[in-house]
Parts: sequence; structure tokens; C-alpha cells
Amino acid sequence: MLQVAIIGSGPAGCYLADQLLRSLPDVSIDVLERLPVPFGLIRYGVAPDHQSTKAIARVLDRVLSRERVNFFGNVEVGRDVRLEELMSLYDAIVLAIGATRDRKLGIPGEDLPGVIGSGGFTGWYNSRPDHRAPEVQGVRSAVIIGNGNVAIDVARILAKCPAELAGSDLSPDVTAWLTTQPIETIHIVGRRSAADAKFTEHELAELGTLERAQPVVVDPAALDGQTAVVEVLRKFVAQENRKARVTINFHFNLTPTAFLGDKELRAVQFRSSNDDAVDLSAQLAVTCIGYETVACCTVKPSNGVFPNEGGKVRDGLYVVGWAKRGPSGTIPTNRTEAQQVAQRIAREVTGSGRPGGAALRELLERRQAHWLDYTAWRRVDTAELAGASEGRCRGKFGTVAEMLEAAQVGRNLRSPAQKADAAQTQALHRKPTQSPASDPQ
Ligand code: NAP
Repeated sequence: MLQVAIIGSGPAGCYLADQLLRSLPDVSIDVLERLPVPFGLIRYGVAPDHQSTKAIARVLDRVLSRERVNFFGNVEVGRDVRLEELMSLYDAIVLAIGATRDRKLGIPGEDLPGVIGSGGFTGWYNSRPDHRAPEVQGVRSAVIIGNGNVAIDVARILAKCPAELAGSDLSPDVTAWLTTQPIETIHIVGRRSAADAKFTEHELAELGTLERAQPVVVDPAALDGQTAVVEVLRKFVAQENRKARVTINFHFNLTPTAFLGDKELRAVQFRSSNDDAVDLSAQLAVTCIGYETVACCTVKPSNGVFPNEGGKVRDGLYVVGWAKRGPSGTIPTNRTEAQQVAQRIAREVTGSGRPGGAALRELLERRQAHWLDYTAWRRVDTAELAGASEGRCRGKFGTVAEMLEAAQVGRNLRSPAQKADAAQTQALHRKPTQSPASDPQ
């Protein structure tokens, strides 16, 4: 029996588990996840109003429910177990930890209140534990930097009216913040031309269908090229006479140079292709310029990914997803990639009698770690579905402590010492631990 541990339960990790089951008749797969709940970016990255995309979680859930797959939620590599320990317990380890750190622009003012990376912003609106609301109120104008689909998601969530958020899983707190901002203008700013934008046509076109928002191309004369995205922008220009409360302004060929303000953000400064300075007034700026992976114990990334050759980092250690290739591609990209890496593992790794999950369980018991198996995760899922408020499809728990409570993990602890340890672990989880090296995936 080949023993494989996958670190990370997002689409990359789950698709790899699926492909390993297809490639190897005799494999046992343990999927470790830092948070108590699985599915990574499906749960915490995909926008809460795009439930049809989030529905892929059902497919991933079926993988975790398979007999030869074991889920270990709330097990953080580096805190509960070290990568080197796992290497001695398993025949192969796969890093599927995503790219959790927001890339930085490296320009003045990036630490001002009101400036936030897209990982922080999308994590917050998806109720990810330890992610907080933007530190500003009274947002009339927001600047979104970047011309990818994450920029579109952020603009759409800011622009939608409350009725358009019905059926989502936005929490009451997030809804309250969004509905109390007197937002009038959203600027989406790209450093290159419209023809170079990385938006997809469908996601961009959706901005033209919103009830209270009107997309506006600030310089229509500069729209060149015949790409699908440029065609959508031309349609926006043709429809610009609509009256709307919120304007979504598209700017191109502007490079960000500084965030301006003393105690909080006042404006974002850009340089145009003619070298002119352009200031856009804003109380909120969201940088949507991509992500980097972070170290996993002694394994360090380079240029935002783990150096690898076709998914292999070194003997017995593999990588998939954004930690392998950077933050690109769609959800199905992970399935194709998983197939290739699974076949490689099947060719290269042979079982050597390592103990795998049995030894990991023992180790976690000894350390009194409070981990969730698949059944415990299903208890959290059921409680969230039952706890949905009016107009919402799910009432997501926003803290690890609530998830552990719903999972009934730690309730059956035997000794007072074990109970004290459970309380300590929950307290640890409640602390904002956003050091880059321990970022969740
Ligand atoms: P992305 O598509 O790579 O877009 C990043 C944007 O940031 C680009 O416009 C890039 O400009 C810009 N950028 C990078 N560095 C910059 C800098 N220093 N200054 C100014 N601009 C800078 O990344 P993303 O939007 O984060 O999306 C990540 C992945 O998730 C993509 O594959 C995306 O399609 C996918 N996604 C899909 C959906 C969906 O299908 N609904 C939703 C969200 C995300 P350059 O092009 O000039 O480098």
C-alpha cells in the first residue's frame, strides 16, 4: 500500500487525490488542511455571489468521502506536525498549499489604512477566519488595481445592491459593511492596454448587467484591438447613457506610483504613458495583482512558487496548483495538472512499508491536537447549512472555535489537562496569526 499525504484541500489537492485513486489501485491518501474545513479557494476565494462556481465543492467533497481518502482538518504543517516528520511517515508528500500571500506593489503608502490586498479582501468577504473588514468607513470611491478576474470580483461585490446578493453566503457582518458604504465610484485600473487585460469576457460582461452600476470606459478613443474583452468594453461605451448610482470606471495604461494620505488613504497616484501624474481620489484601494506561495517548514519558494520539475520538488516531494505554477488558470486547470502529477507519482514512487495515516493519528493524539475527520467536517457543513439566515444559502462560521464546536471536536476529551489544552488551542486560533509563513491556504 502506497502512503501519500497531500497538504492542502483546495481544488488542486482534491483533484490530485482523485487522480491518484484512478492511477493507483493500492494507495491510501491523507489530505491535511490547516483550517477545520476543506476546499481552500472554492470556499474562501470564489466570490460569495457565484454559488454556481462554488458548487464544484460537491465534486471535491465526494473525493474526500472515498474509502481510501482520509481528511485531517485543523492540522497545520509547521504547528501540529513538521514536514520532515511527514516525510518519514509517507512514501510521497504533495504540497497543494496554494499561493496565500498578496503580491506587493512596493510603492509608498501601501501600509495606509484603506489599502488592502485582494487576498485579504476576498478572504474577508468569504468569512475566512482571521480576516478583518477594511479599516475604513464612508467609502465613496474605491480604486481597484489590476486587470484580472479578481479585480472584477471585487468590483462586482462592491457594486451590487443588497437584492443582488440574495442567495449568496455573505455573512451579516460583511453585508452590513457593504450596505453602509455610500459608494459612488469604482475605478478599475490596468497598467497596460485594454487588449492586454486578463479579464475573461463573461466575467467582464456581467458588470454591464448590474442593477445600480454603470461601467464607463474613461478613454474610449484608446480602445484598440479586436479581442473579446475589447468588444465587451465597446458595448459598455455604446450603453453609457444609462443613469446609475454607481459608476465603474475602466482606466488603462496607468502605472501605480503611490498611495496618498496621512492617517488614511486619500487618493492613489498613477503615471500615464505620457509620464503625467494622475491622482484618483479613494478611501479604499484593493490591489488585485496576484499572489505568492509561502514556505512550508524548510521548503522555501522562489519567485512565488516552489521550484519544481514537472511537479517534482525532490525525491518523495511533489507540488501542484498555484504553489507549483503561480496564480493562474481556472479550476479545471487543476484537474489536468493533477492527472500529470498523479501519473508521475505512480511511475516514480513505490511503497516501502511506511505507516502513513495510522502513525499520523497517533502523533496527533499524543500532541492532543484537535483535528477533524470527514465525519466531523460534515457536522460543520450541516450546521452551516441549517444556520443560513434569510436570503443566504449558508451561515458560514467565521472562527475556528465555532467550527470546532460544531464539529464536536474537543467535547469528549477525558482529562482536565486535555480540556485546558483544547481551550488553549482555540485561543491560539482566535489570535490574528497572519505571519506570511503561516498563512492559511
Ligand atoms: P491575473 O489574471 O494574473 O491579473 C493580475 C493583474 O495584475 C494583471 O492585470 C497584471 O497586469 C496586474 N499587475 C501585476 N503586477 C502589477 C503591478 N506591479 N502593477 C500594476 N498591475 C499589476 O490575476 P488575478 O486576477 O489575481 O486572478 C488569478 C487567477 O484566478 C487567474 O487565472 C484568474 O482568471 C482566476 N480567477 C478566475 C475567476 C473566474 O473565472 N470567475 C475569478 C477570479 C480569479 P499585467 O498583465 O500587466 O502583468
